[in-house]
Amino acid sequence: MGLIVAIADTTDVPADKLKDALAVRSQLAPLSPQWIALAGFAAEYYQRPLGEVALPGVPKNLRVTTTVALDRAIKKLAKLADTHDPAPVGMPTLNPEQQAAADAIGGAQGFAPTLLYGVTGSGKTEVYLQACAQVLAREPAGQILILVPEINLTPQLEANIRTRFPGVMLATLHSSLSEGERMLHWLAAHQGQARIVLGTRLAILASLPHLKLIVIDEEHDPSYKQQEGLRYSARDLAVWRGWQLKIPVVLGSATPSLETWHHALAKRYRKLELRQRAVSQATLPAVKLINLEHDKPRDGLTQPLIDALKLRLERGEQSLLFLNRRGYAPVICCESCGWISDCQRCTAFMVLHKGEHKLRCHHCSLEMRIPRHCPTCGNIDLQPLGRGTQRVEEGLQAMFPAARILRIDADSTRRKGSAQEAFDTVHRGDVDILIGTQMVAKGHDFKKLTLVGILNPDTALFSHDYRASERLFAQLMQVAGRAGRTAQTDGGSASEVLVQTRYPEHPLYGAIVRHDYDRFATALLAERAQAGLPPYLYQAMLRAEAPELAKALEFLAAARDCVPHEGITINDPIPMSMTRVYNVDRAQLLVESPSRPALQAFLKEWMTRLREMKSRVKWSLEVDPVDI
Ligand code: ADP
Ligand code: ZN
Ligand code: ZN
Repeated sequence: MGLIVAIADTTDVPADKLKDALAVRSQLAPLSPQWIALAGFAAEYYQRPLGEVALPGVPKNLRVTTTVALDRAIKKLAKLADTHDPAPVGMPTLNPEQQAAADAIGGAQGFAPTLLYGVTGSGKTEVYLQACAQVLAREPAGQILILVPEINLTPQLEANIRTRFPGVMLATLHSSLSEGERMLHWLAAHQGQARIVLGTRLAILASLPHLKLIVIDEEHDPSYKQQEGLRYSARDLAVWRGWQLKIPVVLGSATPSLETWHHALAKRYRKLELRQRAVSQATLPAVKLINLEHDKPRDGLTQPLIDALKLRLERGEQSLLFLNRRGYAPVICCESCGWISDCQRCTAFMVLHKGEHKLRCHHCSLEMRIPRHCPTCGNIDLQPLGRGTQRVEEGLQAMFPAARILRIDADSTRRKGSAQEAFDTVHRGDVDILIGTQMVAKGHDFKKLTLVGILNPDTALFSHDYRASERLFAQLMQVAGRAGRTAQTDGGSASEVLVQTRYPEHPLYGAIVRHDYDRFATALLAERAQAGLPPYLYQAMLRAEAPELAKALEFLAAARDCVPHEGITINDPIPMSMTRVYNVDRAQLLVESPSRPALQAFLKEWMTRLREMKSRVKWSLEVDPVDI
């Protein structure tokens, strides 16, 4: 099964390699030339073969299913598509800022990239929905694509769209659909029946013949970047698609990515602002820094945080503790000889999972029983070092035996549907203290939450990755934004965020206290400009992996010298900071240029040469890399 992307009279492909098309799926409308051009652009920009972009863009079942089954699916959709009244129901009255933003988006014509910059809880969702209503009313067949970072974490949005637009067919596209569902939803989009398509990053490649508006919610979120195979940025492709189709693209966030902020400051993107929380009397929480040097923690919690938790428990309000580290303890060690639980296959520690009596590597999934004594010196007193979510949970249970405590992280939500159940429990109010990783930071509208405690955020301040502070800032603003989303009731607590840190004087925390994204982002951009970093510079990263590091480095050194590269900086090959994963050593080579076209031209030639080298080392290229 293949795709016909163009028809030519002549070809360089040898005749014995050519195949006839035996049959064509004629019951399907062809993919539009615009869609083929999108796939072509992505393939060229990210330096991958067209087939690798185009084929995964089409659901697998469409390729393997029988004609009869396909006909049945098409008939089923035709029946479902019978009702078609795009009028929304139960829309709330927007506040003036929201209304102005919705009108600006809904009424925009032509290519109009727009940053919707609104503080957490400012009601960005209602702006999207109102803008959607306007587009649906104006464009009789118009389709809208809404991208979200992770659909399982944003079920509220899907439910909202369904109740507000009961006459509109909604298709969802994300990785937890079954193949059968995926084909049906893809077809609904491709045939124009679904007027709204809600999906994760992969939905950016959906076939949408009447696309009139693209919305990217939480546009700063790292999950818009695919981290394997075709390493594309769904956000960047969305903007390209908007430019191609001459339609508005909305990028929504309380903490925009620096790339987007940079475009907004340079007026290439229009900036719309929502300065206030949407619910009247709901205010941004007061952020306080607790100096760990002065307030020594007990079970990871300082006294001010313990007192604040007590107060919430007495008042029947919810608290959230954020700790971006799962497991019980990141490592166990022997205090007499200094042994620590390294992974044998990776440059990483084995994490203690106490409940399962196991050590587990979070990179290669190697598991082993907790040793009874030190493997080097025989000491039987092995100690957990540091603190993960499970250990904090244990400490909380001992401290507050009557409290209903729930932990949400990748371990507690492994079973399908369990994350959803856990979040429902929180929304129902059946939880007093919620403890979780970045899974709890995103987008949730928890109504009874008045306290957020942030444990241990400091490590990211000193990362070798220049993007770490941007990410930490966004994450802390997002998690802080979960507090105080409804009006403070009589006798209720004012919402607050307590950050436990060793570096309370760090400017990043100062900006969090002031809820000051603007100044922080603008300062970070100035630093990037001075240091010559993106978005002022364009990068690509060549990575190589081999059983021995020397082989990987050798390949990269050969790659560095194999083509002339005027105007392009090629750095020295270096081992990746986590060098070894699953018995494979990894190294990288960073390529930079102040000119995107120059970099693109170089990469094209370079890739051809590298493929010709036919090295046995496994390598891959990432354009606009995010993890340096
Ligand atoms: P954001 O995505 O900007 O963080 P949400 O869209 O989740 O914010 O909105 C925050 C809360 O405000 C939600 O509970 C939402 O229902 C409510 N809300 C939004 N707009 C309005 C409005 N115009 N009137 C009343 N409530 C609103
Ligand atoms: Zn020992
Ligand atoms: Zn490992």
